[in-house]
Amino acid sequence: MSYAYEVLQEVIARNPGEPEFHQAVKEVLETLEPLLKVRKDYQRAGILERIVEPERQIIFRVPWVDDQGKVQVNRGCRVEFNSAIGAYKGVLRFHPSVYLGIIKFLGFEQIFKNSLTGTPIGGGKGGSDFNPKGRSDGEVMRFCQSFMTELYRHIGPDTDVPAGDIGVGGREIGYMFGQYKRIKNAFEGVLTGKGLIYGGSLVRKEATGYGLVYLVNEMLIDNKRSFDGSTVSISGSGNVAIYAAEKATQLGAKVVTMSDSNGYIYDADGINLDTIKLLKEVNRERISEYIIKHPSAEYHQGCSAIWSVPCDIALPCATQNELDGESAKLLIGNGCIAVGEGANMPTTPEAVNILKEGKVLFAPAKAANAGGVATSALEMSQNSIRLSWSFEEVDQKLKDIMVDIYKNISEAAKEYGCEGDLVAGANIAGFIKVADAMLAQGIV
Ligand code: NDP
Repeated sequence: MSYAYEVLQEVIARNPGEPEFHQAVKEVLETLEPLLKVRKDYQRAGILERIVEPERQIIFRVPWVDDQGKVQVNRGCRVEFNSAIGAYKGVLRFHPSVYLGIIKFLGFEQIFKNSLTGTPIGGGKGGSDFNPKGRSDGEVMRFCQSFMTELYRHIGPDTDVPAGDIGVGGREIGYMFGQYKRIKNAFEGVLTGKGLIYGGSLVRKEATGYGLVYLVNEMLIDNKRSFDGSTVSISGSGNVAIYAAEKATQLGAKVVTMSDSNGYIYDADGINLDTIKLLKEVNRERISEYIIKHPSAEYHQGCSAIWSVPCDIALPCATQNELDGESAKLLIGNGCIAVGEGANMPTTPEAVNILKEGKVLFAPAKAANAGGVATSALEMSQNSIRLSWSFEEVDQKLKDIMVDIYKNISEAAKEYGCEGDLVAGANIAGFIKVADAMLAQGIV
C-alpha cells in the first residue's frame, strides 16, 4: 500500500459524509505518487498527514432578522487550511448547498492553487448556507453584518484575507468590509474584491475569467491551436463565465452558450455579452430572458445538455461536477479539442479520464482559475503600499502570472514522467513549494 493511498484511506475514515473533500484529496494524492517515490523525506515528516488536516476550522451561528421581522439562523464557517507560504487566502461562498465538506474541498484545492500563483499566500475558504437569491438588499446587509460580527476576530490583513465566490459579489464584500471596519476601527486590506473607491484593484472583477483564457491560450499555442476562429461553449453566467466569454471573444472566438442554474442559451451568432451583463450584473434576472432580446437564440431548460452543443473549446464556469462522463463523450464526439476549468472541480473524475483518453487538452481548475486569487494578491500588495495600479499594469501582471503557471505545470508534468498531464503537473508544482516550506518550519 503506498503512502498516498494510506493517507487517503485515513482521510475518508476521519471525515465521514464529506464526498467532495474526499474527491479533492484523492485527485491530488494520486497524482503525487511519482514525486513521493523520490521524496521520501515528505513521508518521514508526515507532510501528507498534516496537509490534509486544516490548521483551524471555525463554525459559528449567524442570526439575523428578515424583512418580516422573523429571526433567521444560518451557519457560517471558515477553514484556515494551510499557512506554510503565507496568510490564509481564499473565498467565502454563500449558497444553500454550503456545508463543511464543500468548504474543505475548496480550501484544500486553494492551498495548491495559491502556491501556483507564485505569490506568498496560504490556503483557506469559508462561507455560509445563506441564500442571497430573492433576499432584499437590507436582508443581505443584515446577514453580512452578522456574519462578519463573528468572522472579524479570526481574520486580518496578515492572518486571513477572504474574498468573494458564488453568492458573494461586490455588494456582499462591501457590507462585510463596512462591518469589519466598524468593529475594528481599522481601514485595512482584510478582504479582496473590494470596490475600486475603497481599496479594490482594477481587473479583479475580470481576473478569473481573463486568467482562464490566458492560460488556455498558452495551452492551445503549445499545441499549435488558438482561440481565433474557434467556437467556445461556456457554462454559467456569473463572474467567471462573463469575463471568460469577454476575453475569448477578444481573442477571436465565438462563444455560443451560457447558462444559469435553471437552463442554458444557445446563440449560433455568438452570445451578446452586453445583454448578459445587463441581465446578470445589473438586473439580476434569469438567463431565459436573453431570448426576448435575441429571438433567434434558443433557451433550454436544465443544464446538463449544454455539453451536447458542438464546440472546439469548452469552459465549464458554473459549479462543481457539472461536466460528467456522458458530457465528456459528447464533447469528444463533436470534435472538442480543449477543456479549461473556470469553476472549481467542474469536471467529474470519470469525465477527466475520458477526456484524457480522448486526447482532449485539459487545463485543471487549480491552475486555470488561479487568476482571481492571483489578482487578489495584487490587490493586497496595492493595499500595503497604499497605491493603485492601472488596468493595463494589473492585466499585464495577471497575464504574466498565467503564462508562468502554464510553464511551471507543464514542466513539472514532464519532469515527473507525465508529459502533457496538466492535472498531475499542477498538483506536483503546487505541492512541492508548500511541502518544502512545511519541512523548513518543523512539525507545526
Ligand atoms: P457566480 O455566483 O457569479 O456565478 C455562478 C454561476 O453558476 C451562475 O450563473 C449560477 O447560476 C451558476 N450555477 C450555480 N450553481 C449551479 C448549479 N448547481 N448548476 C448550474 N449552474 C449553477 O460565481 P462565480 O462566477 O464567481 O464562480 C463560478 C465558479 O468559479 C465557482 O466554482 C467558483 O468557486 C469558481 N471560482 C470563482 C472565482 C472568482 O474569482 N469569482 C475564482 C476561482 C474560482 P444561478 O445564477 O442560477 O445561481
